Amino acid sequence: MRRVLLARFGEVHLKGQNRPFFLRTLVDNVRKAVEGIGGHVWMAESRIYVSGAEDMDDCLERVRKVFGIYSVSPAVEMEKDLEKIYAQAIEMMKGVTGTFKVMCKRSDKKFPLNSQELASKAGERILDAYPHLKVDVHKPQTEMWIEIRDHAYLCNTETMAVGGLPMGTAGRAMLLLSGGIDSPVAGYQIMRRGVNIQAIHFASPPYTSERAREKVLSLAKTIGLYENGIRVHVVPFTDIQMKIHEKCEEGLGTVIMRRFMMRIADRIARDNDCQALITGESIGQVASQTMEALACTDVVATVPVFRPLIGMDKLEIIRIAEKIDTYETSILPYEDCCTVFTPRHPVTKPKIDKVEKEEKWLDAEALIEEAVRNTEILHIKE
Ligand code: ATP
Ligand code: MG
Repeated sequence: MRRVLLARFGEVHLKGQNRPFFLRTLVDNVRKAVEGIGGHVWMAESRIYVSGAEDMDDCLERVRKVFGIYSVSPAVEMEKDLEKIYAQAIEMMKGVTGTFKVMCKRSDKKFPLNSQELASKAGERILDAYPHLKVDVHKPQTEMWIEIRDHAYLCNTETMAVGGLPMGTAGRAMLLLSGGIDSPVAGYQIMRRGVNIQAIHFASPPYTSERAREKVLSLAKTIGLYENGIRVHVVPFTDIQMKIHEKCEEGLGTVIMRRFMMRIADRIARDNDCQALITGESIGQVASQTMEALACTDVVATVPVFRPLIGMDKLEIIRIAEKIDTYETSILPYEDCCTVFTPRHPVTKPKIDKVEKEEKWLDAEALIEEAVRNTEILHIKE
């Protein structure tokens, strides 16, 4: 008898012809997640199994964070001996209260009882052992699963996992990563769909500090955990911001600055085989996120811009930030380049032609060239 984990996958089931590719990637990703702690991974009958790790709780936590995994159950793998199976089921139901149901699945047709017989026999034994329990076949509080295959597998708890699609099955995108709450969450939402990401950060030293930069790199590291590290491009942005401040109408400063961010991110994305940009914008959250302002920034990108938080409330975003462990870092009070040179009265409904006219005061191409040339590339890993 030994402890194993039994992981279920969700949406991968739907993937038609690409199913083998998705499953192979998923199994590989689970393997990468647990190999460091001695986990051994295999797939059988639409489940992924993990055994062998010394610390199975740590192992479960790791498997739970693999995109594409829907839920994980700690299970027992044992010989197909009826009496031993009953005894094990009784042991696992110790301490359980309320209602339960035994669910059985038998793929080994040589096993002496069929699924229904096994379920009802095991149910009786459990009731004999714990008379305070009640059977509820419709909405049981606990489901005791017994599966008969090469071995017998028993489990009665299920932990929800992150879901989504296996990392590496959906291309690559460039995340505009600030030090705030929103952008790490936006990155996570897209990664969850199987997309590898890189991050780009605009820094304006000396107006933004070394600690602000460290904060961003720390956020990159946290989300990078989902894909074994992350490439971060740090763009020097001070010159551009100074020029905008000097030459352009103050109220349009923010939207012009954001258009420069987009252009540079777009250029670096294409140079790095990224097929889309990701931002943490949400309609109406701040002056630069009105429909009009979003329209002004959108038009300068040549690849699609994904804004997975566009329709979300701040509180919903915070809840995800807490779940993915970025919140505590995001609320550290260091400045972002967006917070320096902020116009006193930003135009909330900028018109594209007006913005374009103001930008004529700048040599956009030269400024972008210079910023891209001086961009620093880091690879951040746990
Ligand atoms: P966040 O919480 O992600 O910082 P925010 O609510 O502060 O977002 P803005 O400052 O307007 O909103 O930024 C909107 C989006 O622009 C961010 O979510 C991020 O994707 C991008 N962004 C802002 N500042 C930077 C920066 N310094 N470097 C890279 N991207 C940035
Ligand atoms: Mg911000």
